[in-house]
Parts: sequence; structure tokens; C-alpha cells
Amino acid sequence: MPRIQRLSDHLVNQIAAGEVVERPASALKELLENSIDAGSTSLQIELQAGGSKLIKVIDDGCGIAKDDLGLALHRHATSKISSMDDLAKVGTLGFRGEGLASIASVSRLSLTSRFTENDQLSAHAWRVEADHGHLLEPEPAALACGTTIEVHELYTQVPARKKFLKSDSTEYAHCLSMVERLALANPQIQITLLHNGKAQQRWLAGDLAKRAAAIIGDEFVQSGIVVDEGFGSLRLHGITGSPTLGKTSREAQYFFVNGRFVRDKVVMHALKEAYRDVLHHNLHASFCLFLELDPEGVDVNVHPTKIEVRFRESQAIYRFLLTSLSKALAQTKAGKQPEGID
Ligand code: ADP
Ligand code: MG
Repeated sequence: MPRIQRLSDHLVNQIAAGEVVERPASALKELLENSIDAGSTSLQIELQAGGSKLIKVIDDGCGIAKDDLGLALHRHATSKISSMDDLAKVGTLGFRGEGLASIASVSRLSLTSRFTENDQLSAHAWRVEADHGHLLEPEPAALACGTTIEVHELYTQVPARKKFLKSDSTEYAHCLSMVERLALANPQIQITLLHNGKAQQRWLAGDLAKRAAAIIGDEFVQSGIVVDEGFGSLRLHGITGSPTLGKTSREAQYFFVNGRFVRDKVVMHALKEAYRDVLHHNLHASFCLFLELDPEGVDVNVHPTKIEVRFRESQAIYRFLLTSLSKALAQTKAGKQPEGID
């Protein structure tokens, strides 16, 4: 057996990239979450070849200061937390400081940003480029505001990973569903999406009902039940599908915890139980629901992509979800009873 040696930072990043950026859609998620954390009101997304050739995100957020540009591409460098305490109550989508470093280690990346501080735009923008983790010096650039990131040729130089990528249309479909999740959680942000130069989606800023109608469908919103329930520091709000609108697939199931799309057993169990008596057992409910709770009551640092969470008091969450949803569903049952029946 050879002697132990330290892996280079570059190799560490490339290995980590496999966890954080599994495919173009996961790189896109990291970029969009950064734009959302930066307070953007408008996002433009341009993809080529399902994102494997190009992922470009243009935002109008707070930007990055020139001196921080290189740091943004470093592993474990973040502006979002600085202590264990912060981690326990993290309110941003990102916090691990590894999204950009991971992407930059397996692509050619260009990051252009114009920093805004106290409502004051800096004199001009700066750009840094990184080629598979090798960083160049920042250069002055032109940009009205915010940040523009281009990720070229994700994984083309990492054959082991590249062979796992599917066809462009499959990768695009993954990107689209990623964008849809983030779009549902942020209806106040205008979003446009282009693929291979063609406009695919354009969602104007609006409320959840409008956004959900555009993404899940008019029928879902029109027949859906508006939920807004609270108990202590827990709040559940959003739209849950009418039991008459059961689907044969789980495609229209969106559940967010503190603004983050998650898949969680406790949540799914509660939803299934709530719909048990009103939905045919072969069909799946549609929903777009948001659970808000004290960040200290949920651990989001369970999985590198943060799709899994762990509730501190999962039984209490289960009971709250079940009670709230049963109540919402019962209302419609009662409301739908024809008048005049004894
Ligand atoms: P994290 O999001 O976990 O902090 P990232 O690697 O994704 O880690 O980003 C590193 C840092 O770069 C962020 O903490 C943030 O300060 C900055 N950053 C990245 N993208 C943007 C953006 N679009 N707008 C403003 N700042 C950004
Ligand atoms: Mg991030």
C-alpha cells in the first residue's frame, strides 16, 4: 500500500463536485440559489445543450465586491455564515461555500459582478475567470448591475462524470424542473429561461396563484384549496390540490421548508394520510405547500444538495401538517355539500 499523502485542493474540489453538482441542473440550482440569496428581483437563464455546453445566469442582485471575487470561487468561502450559531439559524439557501468552487473545478467559468453597497453602485464591474479551478486575476468589465455567471463545458474534462450525463433533452428537462421549483418558491422574482437561443419560459413577477397557474396549471389553482394554518411558530401556507384532481404521477408535488424544496418522509407521510379518505388510493395528490418554522427546528445540513432535511421534532411537525391539511380538505367536503340536504 502506498504512503498517505494529502490530496491537492484541485482534486478535493473535483471530488466534492461530484456530490454538489451531479449534473447541469444541480449546477444551475447552485447558481440560482446564489442569485436569490443576493436579493435579485429578476433572473435570466440561458442554457445550451441541456446546460452541458453553457449555463448562464444573469441576476440583478447585490453583486460581489472586487476583492471577494476570487474568494467566491474558493471552497469553504461564504458570506452567509461565520459561526456554528449562524449555521443553526441559517436563513439563506446557501451556506456551505462550496457551490461555486465545485462548479469552477469542473468547467470553464466566468464570473462578472458589479457590487452594490448602501444603494451605491461601484464604479464598474469586475470579472474573474477560472479554467477547471485555475483562477485568473480580476479584470474590469461592463455590467449594469448584479452578477452574471457563465459555466462552459461542465464536466467535459472529467470523463468519469461526463459519461453519466444523459441526452441534452433529458438534461434540459432536469434543468427546467429545477427552475420551476425555485420559481414556485419565489413568485416575486421575474424569470426568463432560454434554451439553445430560444425563449422557453417567461414568468412575470406576481403572487403564488399566478406562478402556480403558469407552472402547475390553471385547473390546479382554480380547484385547489388555499391553506394558511399556524400553530405556535409553525406555519403552513400555499395551495393544496382538490381531491378531484388526483394524478397518476407525483409530478405536481411541491413542498418547501423555509423556502427550500425538499423531499421528506415525515412530510409525505402526513400528506398521504390527510388525503387517504378523499383521494382514490391509486392516485397522487398535487400540492404546492410551504412550511415555515424556526430555522433552529430544522437541520438543513444533512445532504450536500440540501434536498433532505431533519426536523428536530418530527412528530410535532407530522401532527401539525396532518391537522392543518385535514382541516383544509374537510372544509371543501363540507363546502361541496349541496344546499338543503339534511
Ligand atoms: P454559498 O452560497 O454556500 O455561500 P457559493 O460557493 O455558492 O457558497 O458562493 C460563495 C459566495 O459568493 C457567496 O457566499 C456569496 O457571497 C457570493 N456569491 C455567489 N453568487 C453570487 C451572486 N449571484 N450574487 C452575489 N453574491 C454571490
Ligand atoms: Mg451557493
